[in-house]
Amino acid sequence: MNLRKLAIKIILKRASNQKRTSELKADSLEKHFGELVFTKEVMRKYLSKNVMKVVERWEKGEKISLDVAEEVANAMKQWALSKGATHYTHWFQPLTGLTAEKHDSFFTIRNGKLLSSFSGEELLQQEPDASSLPSGGLRSTFEARGYTAWDPTSPAFIYGNTLCIPSVYISYNGDALDHKTPLLRSIELINKYATQVAKLFNPEVESVKPTLGPEQEFFLIDEAFFMSRPDLVLAGRTITGAPPARGQQLEDHYFGSIPERVKNFLQDVELEAYKLGIPLKTRHNEVAPGQYEVAPEFEELNIAVDHNQLLMDLMDKIARKHHFRILFHEKPFARINGSGKHNNWSLITNTGINLFSPEEQNNNLRFLSFLSATLCAINEYRDLLRASIASYGNDLRLGGNEAPPPIISVFLGKSISKVLEQIEKEKIPENIAAKEEMKLNIPRIPDLMRDNTDRNRTSPFAFTGNKFEFRAVGSSANNASAMTVLNTIVADKLNEFLQSVNSKIQEGKEKNIAIFETIKEFVIRSKNIRFEGDNYSKEWFEEAKKRGFNIYYSTPEALKVYTHTKNKELFTKYNILTDKEIQSRLNIQLERYIKTMEIEYSLMNEIIRTYIIPSVVEYKHKLAETMRLMKEIDMHDSKYEYDLLTKITSELRSIIRRIENLETEKREVEQIQDLYEKALAYRKRIFPIMEELREIADSLEARVEDSLWKLPKYREMLFLR
Ligand code: ADP
Ligand code: MG
Repeated sequence: MNLRKLAIKIILKRASNQKRTSELKADSLEKHFGELVFTKEVMRKYLSKNVMKVVERWEKGEKISLDVAEEVANAMKQWALSKGATHYTHWFQPLTGLTAEKHDSFFTIRNGKLLSSFSGEELLQQEPDASSLPSGGLRSTFEARGYTAWDPTSPAFIYGNTLCIPSVYISYNGDALDHKTPLLRSIELINKYATQVAKLFNPEVESVKPTLGPEQEFFLIDEAFFMSRPDLVLAGRTITGAPPARGQQLEDHYFGSIPERVKNFLQDVELEAYKLGIPLKTRHNEVAPGQYEVAPEFEELNIAVDHNQLLMDLMDKIARKHHFRILFHEKPFARINGSGKHNNWSLITNTGINLFSPEEQNNNLRFLSFLSATLCAINEYRDLLRASIASYGNDLRLGGNEAPPPIISVFLGKSISKVLEQIEKEKIPENIAAKEEMKLNIPRIPDLMRDNTDRNRTSPFAFTGNKFEFRAVGSSANNASAMTVLNTIVADKLNEFLQSVNSKIQEGKEKNIAIFETIKEFVIRSKNIRFEGDNYSKEWFEEAKKRGFNIYYSTPEALKVYTHTKNKELFTKYNILTDKEIQSRLNIQLERYIKTMEIEYSLMNEIIRTYIIPSVVEYKHKLAETMRLMKEIDMHDSKYEYDLLTKITSELRSIIRRIENLETEKREVEQIQDLYEKALAYRKRIFPIMEELREIADSLEARVEDSLWKLPKYREMLFLR
């Protein structure tokens, strides 16, 4: 049976049966927002004032007694049961990139009676049997246990019929085995140094939190197409497929009206996300056909990361109900735009000041302090930032003329750039009275900021008015990886900023002078990272090389940077990751890279041998048969058929040659023991042959009779719904 034809039939039928779900009403959103979240408000209903005080101190890092944990657990249980939950789980983020949960029932049977229980101990810590989760060598067999521990800074929630308790995941020895642990450490770190720098200007500031608003891109395709493509099922992307006659040239999909079926899906997502307290705000079509984006209102970083992980899971589940499959892969369709996850990041004080907002009441010096420290951080650790977003899928997307290149640079826009240029030239006055900031001749940024129209969509790291937008993050990534690095490197430079200011003050300089001098030094030092031009252009690659930038095209090379002395020292100095943890993370990612390549290798083999070659052979047979019949009736002009047959036969021959070549290479690469060398060998020796194979397969797809082709084509997957 030709699954492709069946799929098309099913989908056409679906389209004619399309029912409209009821429009989502504003009041129902309001009614349901947060109803499945164990918020502070809910807590207050169930817990005494005294216990609440302890919990709040606990969130700030104080230890909690088992007695209090017992009370909190009991409150959680009562609330969860009242919402119909039957199970509870520690919900955590192992390094697989997915979330993990192991459900336990609230109920036990004692003396023939059903009892519900959930103890303080169970709330605080659990020991999931997670021996098959990756640890990159951190757990040897004798210490196979991993523990999960409640993260009280992210609220518990009910998902399905399970109470989920956001948790960290650590080994018996306390090594981080997850994404959340280093993220929390980095949030604490940037809190420390950003608060001290903010205090230079606003002594009343007590704490600073990073914020994140992640824009999430994705593709939706009908499940019937999904099911008839083994590559989509197993690799999440197509590994062959000719581009459609009409792709995104017309640019009519972007911001166009959202198809009805997709809107129905999105409304379901919005309602369920709202119940879970995920503040979804925008939805629209993206550039490629079949591609969309949703974005929530920004939140505290830790919560925003949890919410994004939860949202991806939720969207996947809801898509299935609508007979869609959602593709979070960075590059599901070659030659069509890929998907990213723009991480909008900023810093906010407990007093409500956005530290990257130049419009915050006439405090340009403060804004410039944070800006210049961030510029230095990106400049000096750009390779680390590149490493933080490295993945097999993202390699396929970055630099694909639609996503930022694998070169990290910062875009600031005309206004801010002008200000920095002026600062660079500015003579620093010998002495001025305290608080007379304007005498420093700092251009008035708020006025200049108004023309914030010069947006540069090609930049991987752009300043967008009052936040930075890190656009190189992959659509399937856990944001924690990129955000941990960003927090850490900016904290490091804020620390340095502070030291510089303090030592200048000790030399007897006036505070504002000391600050301004430091800003100036930081601005000059970080000039190299600023790039306002077209990041997609060839010229930028040349220019970047001239500036001494390393360009890491592939994940193994990009990841290796984690082990450079400078970076290891940074992580260990601030206790974000130990040497051992860094090495284990590197191992896990390299292993994942290798496994992904192995899967795609097998898929390529299978698709070529069992889908493509048989179609080609069938077509050859048809052509040969036609020629034979023509001869029988004395028609001798079969040049067209003959040429076609020759062409196809020669392409078939090159396919076979490459498949054999691929197998030989694979056998050799498999023997390599060192993980890094092996991953690199896959990239350098296996990947190029697969690309060549794909090219020939795609050329055949464009030649072989349509009705003989078995795999759904791009135009069908992207346009039929
Ligand atoms: P764009 O034009 O890039 O789509 P938006 O203003 O729509 O920009 O914002 C995109 C995302 O940035 C949203 O998730 C938004 O909540 C988030 N965002 C806005 N301000 C901040 C901030 N201070 N910190 C973090 N994220 C922010
Ligand atoms: Mg944006």
